[in-house]
Amino acid sequence: MKNIIKIMFGVLFLAALPAFAAQDFLKYDIGSYKFYAMINNTGAISDVLIGNKDKITFDKYKAAGWNANAINYFLLDTGTQKILFDTGLPLARGGKVLERLEAIGVKPQDISIICLTHMHMDHIGGMLDDEGKKVFPNAKVFLSKEEAEYWNNPNNDSSSFKSAKKVLEVYGESIIKFPQKQKITDGVTSVPLFGHTPGHTGFIIENKGKKLVILGDVIHANIQFVNPDIYLTYDVDPKTAMKTRKLVLKKAAAEGVDITGMHIAPPSVGKIKKTGKGYLFERHI
Ligand SMILES: [Zn+2]
Repeated sequence: MKNIIKIMFGVLFLAALPAFAAQDFLKYDIGSYKFYAMINNTGAISDVLIGNKDKITFDKYKAAGWNANAINYFLLDTGTQKILFDTGLPLARGGKVLERLEAIGVKPQDISIICLTHMHMDHIGGMLDDEGKKVFPNAKVFLSKEEAEYWNNPNNDSSSFKSAKKVLEVYGESIIKFPQKQKITDGVTSVPLFGHTPGHTGFIIENKGKKLVILGDVIHANIQFVNPDIYLTYDVDPKTAMKTRKLVLKKAAAEGVDITGMHIAPPSVGKIKKTGKGYLFERHI
């Protein structure tokens, strides 16, 4: 039942996303690395998705536009590797990962690494084509051990688990199930950000003194910067997700590091500054 509710919310969430017409991707330099934030589409988060909405006055956040969100995925070109961070929705359900990659001159076979933050449908959807075959034939897929174990559950046959198992099966030996704080490749390290899902993972990109932290789904809309206590019905373990969010935002603000995430509305890269109980996101590309 819980999963059926989640799927229903998923449909509501997608229905709230209007067609995106402005910028489809944003280019950003991390030292000599090229980083592209590819925006699949933008929208606004609905209050039905807020798990603790009884305690939250959503209207003031909405009035400030802090409910705006997006579905994003990222490409890092290090010069020797083309690394994709998540892949968005399935191509048949509005996923545009191939279109966005083509726009920057990247073919599916050029992708050497896919880093997955977690295995929700809006992150793994672009990995399989309509026939259930690999979209990225040469990619090694880095997935946290904890995340792989969670979705491999033989006792859960809901559609989200089926989709995750299909990706695990089709990519098979190309999937590298890594322990946390693992070096993925030169310039890319994983960071455990558990809670949204049991193995939810962020990635730190560093080059020539520049640093960007990919927060995955720690943030689903700017309301969670302003009020990090807000959790979503999608969070598998809301309490852990909240604790993780508070810790990582505190660290990011203290370090003044650049951050981005899979649902931060464009321009999706910026810094945060402490304000009241939470943070203000300052976009800078
Ligand atoms: Zn997501």
